[in-house]
Amino acid sequence: MPFVLPDELQQKQLALREFMDAEIVPIAEEKDRKGPLSYSENIELFKKLVPLGYIRAFNPKDVGGLDTTYLERAVMAEELGRAWGALVVTLDTHAGVIEMIARFGTKEHKKKWAEPGTRGEIIGSDMVSEPSGGSDQTQFKTTAILNGDHYIVNGTKMWVTNAVQADVGILTAVTDPEAYAADPRKGVISLIVDRKESPWKVRDIPFVGCRSGNTGYVEFENLKVPKENLLHNADEGYKHQLLARTWFRINIAAMGVGGMQACLEESIAYAKKRVAFGKPIAGFQLVQELISDMAMDTDILRLLVYRASCLLDKGIRSDIEQAMSKVFCGEAAVRVSHKAIQVFGARGLTTDEGYKLERFYRDSIMGGIGEGTTQILKLLIGRRLTGIQAFI
Ligand SMILES: Cc1cc2nc3c(=O)[nH]c(=O)nc-3n(C[C@H](O)[C@H](O)[C@H](O)COP(=O)(O)OP(=O)(O)OC[C@H]3O[C@@H](n4cnc5c(N)ncnc54)[C@H](O)[C@@H]3O)c2cc1C
Repeated sequence: MPFVLPDELQQKQLALREFMDAEIVPIAEEKDRKGPLSYSENIELFKKLVPLGYIRAFNPKDVGGLDTTYLERAVMAEELGRAWGALVVTLDTHAGVIEMIARFGTKEHKKKWAEPGTRGEIIGSDMVSEPSGGSDQTQFKTTAILNGDHYIVNGTKMWVTNAVQADVGILTAVTDPEAYAADPRKGVISLIVDRKESPWKVRDIPFVGCRSGNTGYVEFENLKVPKENLLHNADEGYKHQLLARTWFRINIAAMGVGGMQACLEESIAYAKKRVAFGKPIAGFQLVQELISDMAMDTDILRLLVYRASCLLDKGIRSDIEQAMSKVFCGEAAVRVSHKAIQVFGARGLTTDEGYKLERFYRDSIMGGIGEGTTQILKLLIGRRLTGIQAFI
C-alpha cells in the first residue's frame, strides 16, 4: 500500500485540485444554499466533470469508461469532496448505478443506459431503502410480480438519492414473497426502471445537509416494467447489491477525507489571519491543538480509505477495512468540521461573510447514516472479529 501516491496519480490529483479550485469551489457555496439543483444544472456539471474522468472512472471500457483503480476513484472523490460534498453524492450515486448496469446488464441494457450514463447525459438512482426497512433489509414490502411480459411493481422507496430527477433507476424488489420470508437473501430481484416507460411518483425529502442534491420518496402503484429490464435475478439480487455497497462505502469515506481537508485548510488560513489579544489566533496553543487534532483525523481517514481501496484493487477481501473507513468517517468528519467551526468562532456558524464551515458541518452528519449506519457497520466488524452475530 502506498504511503505516497504513485507519481502519475499525484499529478492527476494536483490537476483535479486546480480544476476544482477554479471551476467548482467558486460556485458550490451559492448553489448549495439555494437547494436542489435543477435537472439541467446537474447534467451541465456532469458534462463538465466527465472529461476529467468522473463517472467514466467507474465504468468498463466497452461502454466508454476508463475502468480505473479504486485508489484513483478514491482520490477523485476526495478532490471533489474537498470542493462540494453534495455533488459527490449526486454524481457518484449516478456513476455507481451506471456501473452496475455496465457490469451486470445485457448488451441492450448497456446501449440504452450504460453508454449515455457514462457520458453524463442521463441521471441514475439506486432504489433500495424503504420506510419500513433501511438497516433492516428483511422488511422490504415493495414487490415486483411477473405478469406476462411485464413485472407489476407496487410499493414505496425512501431516501433515494437523485430519484426526483433520475431518468433511470435500479429498483430492488421482492419477486417471490415466500422465498423472501424464509430467507431474506432470496426472492429479491433488481429491475432497471426507465422513467419514460415506467414513470414513478416522487417527491423530494429535504435533508439538513447536501442541500443541492435531491432525495426521493418514490411510490409505485401497479407500475409496469418490461421483463427484459431484469438486471439481477432472484438468486443474484442480494449478492450484487452487497458488491455495490462495498465500493459505495469507501467512496463516502473518500468524500469525507476531502471535506475534512477543506476544513483543515480553511482553519489554518483563518487562524493565521484572525487576530485576538494582539496576535494571530494560530499562535495560541489551544488553537494549534484544534488544528493538530483535525490534521490527525484527516490523515487517519485518508490512510483507511487508501488501504481499503488498495485491497479492493488487489481483489483481497476487505469488508472490515471498508466498514472501518466508513465508520471512522461518520464520526471523524463531524469532529473535524465541528473543530473548524470552533476555530472560526461565530463566523463558523454563519454564511454571512461567505465562510462555508457550516455547510461542511451539515454535510458531515450524513456520513454516519447513508450506505450502512455506523452502528450496523460496527456490528459487521464485530461479527467478523468474534464470529458472533449481534444484529438481532
Ligand atoms: C445521504 C443519504 C443518502 C442515501 N441514499 C440512498 C439511496 O440512494 N438509495 C437508498 O435506497 N437509500 C439511501 N439512503 C438510505 C440509507 O441507506 C438508510 O438511511 C440507512 O440504511 C439507514 O436506514 P434508516 O434511515 O431507515 O435507519 P434505521 O434502520 O431505522 O436505523 C435507525 C437507528 O437504529 C440503529 N439500528 C438499526 N438496527 C440496528 C441494530 N440491529 N443494532 C444496532 N443499531 C441498529 C441504526 O444504526 C440507527 O442509528 C440514503 C441515506 C442518506 C442519509
